[in-house]
Amino acid sequence: MKHKEKNLPVIKCSLLKQLQESENVMSKYECSVCGWVYDEEEGFDGGGIAPGTKFEDFAEDWFCPFCSAGKEKFNKLRGT
Ligand SMILES: [Zn+2]
Repeated sequence: MKHKEKNLPVIKCSLLKQLQESENVMSKYECSVCGWVYDEEEGFDGGGIAPGTKFEDFAEDWFCPFCSAGKEKFNKLRGT
């Protein structure tokens, strides 16, 4: 179940998006072991990772919540 905030003013939303696109581009990282994709824009609710958290900001000993692979097993995906 996704729970997206829909009550933000439109202007604020598009401004935020512009900011992210120009200076702070969100990326996706795929686990090469199990195929799980971490989306920086969405974060990972089950792992307590807030939306917008950069993959590179994860602790060095962080590992995939599904298969326990280390960060080095993740590959950065190109934008949509
Ligand atoms: Zn994995």
